[in-house]
Amino acid sequence: MDSPSDKITAAAPIRAPSAVPIDDAVLPFEVAALDLRGRLTRMGPALDDILTKHDYPAPVGKLLGEAIVLTTLLGSSLKFDGRFILQTQTDGPVSFLVVDFQAPDRLRAYARFDAERVKEAKDSAKHSGSLLGRGHLAMTIDQGPDMSRYQGLVALEGGSLEEAAHEYFLRSEQIPTRVRLAVGEEWSGGKHRWRAGGLLTQFLPKAPERLRQADLHPGDAPEGVELHSVEEDEAWVEGQSLVATVEDIELIDPDLSGERLLFRLFHERGVRVFKDVALQARCSCSRDAVAEMLNNFSAQDRADMVKDDKVVVTCEFCSSVYEFTPREAGVTEN
Ligand SMILES: [Zn+2]
Repeated sequence: MDSPSDKITAAAPIRAPSAVPIDDAVLPFEVAALDLRGRLTRMGPALDDILTKHDYPAPVGKLLGEAIVLTTLLGSSLKFDGRFILQTQTDGPVSFLVVDFQAPDRLRAYARFDAERVKEAKDSAKHSGSLLGRGHLAMTIDQGPDMSRYQGLVALEGGSLEEAAHEYFLRSEQIPTRVRLAVGEEWSGGKHRWRAGGLLTQFLPKAPERLRQADLHPGDAPEGVELHSVEEDEAWVEGQSLVATVEDIELIDPDLSGERLLFRLFHERGVRVFKDVALQARCSCSRDAVAEMLNNFSAQDRADMVKDDKVVVTCEFCSSVYEFTPREAGVTEN
């Protein structure tokens, strides 16, 4: 028999890839023959829910979608009740992005942007980097009260989030990694929907000497400067070339299952999938939490928030509106 699935790790049950597409989930996988491990994210309704709660211009929605997918790829390996927060702070038309992932499955996110500048940048906004501009990307991992917080920082210099992720793994984690992110708009039956997909692939050999990797190309190195060349491990060279074949349309195709996509990419080497992790768009805001936040403001700040005899607080993540009477908001009469 020459069924490619025969090459799947002997210890694992062998079966054909499922043809059923599953949205809003992260699918972990392994290509043992190449020492690759990775995760594939497919997002539909949850992404659409987060993005349509705000009336983002399309380029901003797309950029925030990329940040959301990147967050699911990085955060979904967290332990129970861990938290992963991705933030950008930059000087471009989109000055601030935040994605908050709370394990095992809760996602929320929002973007701050300058509508005029986004409009002006429209032509050059084909890739996310031009909307972000320069600044930094911060990733914070919080594994609960007994664990220390970890923060990784990467400079953003006009490049895309994909590029920033590569930079992060090269400098901070020193794990050879490729990341692909794709966000698209689907029109069906006259309805607009956001979809996204992403793939993270890492080379994790047992022998550390196989981890050598080529430096990123220094985009602005003066001509004639000799680049430091490194011979990468053959398995990683092959892994990267397979990952490079994945197209945006494959990552977001609603009719192509995640398992079929992984099989398409890696079937020659055999790919094993693990249990998928579901994702949901769910904000953690509540009336009580907002009341507590108001409580922490100064009396003057609270008084300044009264308009038409009400204090109205809108959650930036999910646009939920919370209304308080001045008395409920702790405003004391003069
Ligand atoms: Zn909220």
